[in-house]
Amino acid sequence: MKISRLPLLLFTLLLLPGCAGGQSVPTVGPEAEKHTRTVLAMDTVMELSVYGQEGSAALDGGEEVILALEKLLSVTDPDSEIYGANHSGGEGTTISDDTAALLEQALSLCGETGGALDVTIYPVVSAWGFTNGNYRVPEEEELSALLERVDYRKITLDGDQLTVPEGMALDLGAVAKGYAGDRIMECFRDEGVTSAIVSLGGNVQALGTKPDGSLWQVAVQDPTGSGYAGVLSVADKAVVTSGGYQRYFEQNGRVYWHIIDPADGCPAENGLVSVTIVADSGVLADGLSTALFVMGAEGAAEYWRACGGFDFVLIGGDGAVTITEGIEDSFALYGNWTDHELQVIRR
Ligand code: AMP
Ligand code: MG
Repeated sequence: MKISRLPLLLFTLLLLPGCAGGQSVPTVGPEAEKHTRTVLAMDTVMELSVYGQEGSAALDGGEEVILALEKLLSVTDPDSEIYGANHSGGEGTTISDDTAALLEQALSLCGETGGALDVTIYPVVSAWGFTNGNYRVPEEEELSALLERVDYRKITLDGDQLTVPEGMALDLGAVAKGYAGDRIMECFRDEGVTSAIVSLGGNVQALGTKPDGSLWQVAVQDPTGSGYAGVLSVADKAVVTSGGYQRYFEQNGRVYWHIIDPADGCPAENGLVSVTIVADSGVLADGLSTALFVMGAEGAAEYWRACGGFDFVLIGGDGAVTITEGIEDSFALYGNWTDHELQVIRR
């Protein structure tokens, strides 16, 4: 068996000459001082970059946000609120504003995506070994028994009271980094920062533009190799990818990845190998990247047409790239990928 993770490079920030668009957002000037920090948290490497004189204080605040959220949301730390709720024997537990805010958004997304995102999938993810690295392919009967314990609609959230029924477990892994991105941006703004970018194990979130006023260049990883498939030019956006290549194992020549279809408890195989969502909100982008991966290209396009409020880049197993019209002018295929088929979905 083989496990592969690409924690750092899922998105690498590319500074490509000639790709920047002009805009009128306020800047802190091309010579603004750059402050950076690396934080190891949530099982990943997080890189924060802030421009301007407020940078150092903002980084302290951003790091605090990350560490505090990790303490609240970890599924394995016995002191976390999520662990407490998962091990409460079906009793209600009191949670913080942050955990409640994230759960409220996550549970809505589970509903809106018809359960393609299901934050109670943990027992199944765990049976496949994605929680501890003891990878195995569970039998169908085992999966059907476990799926009885998966249903986000059975979670009760009432203000600061959370109840996880006995035998069920919450795992916010599909949305936690997105929420962290939103909270970091809030903290940076409060510090007076107008130009910053963070990469939280591949979730990229940008505040404003680059200090010279040009757009941030965010690369979309080539799901078949180590380079890039495309580049997005963004300001004030979250750019989040879910990819089968990010975490997987191989057994008897088959690849099994970490994104599970709650319909059958197996790795989602609907023709996509990577889904990137571009949205104002990190938690929306993170939740939808996982959900649309489960839905497949047709389901994703249908969902986008029905709900909107975000854009996507889908990469199929056949190498076809599909984007929504909102990023037609801000997405470009990159390197070897420039001769791949690029389809634009319209309303
Ligand atoms: P992401 O990398 O954001 O797509 O999140 C994937 C992680 O979320 C996995 O490692 C699992 O812990 C969990 N997960 C897998 N499938 C689902 C699903 N359908 N709904 C919610 N969480 C999931
Ligand atoms: Mg996600």
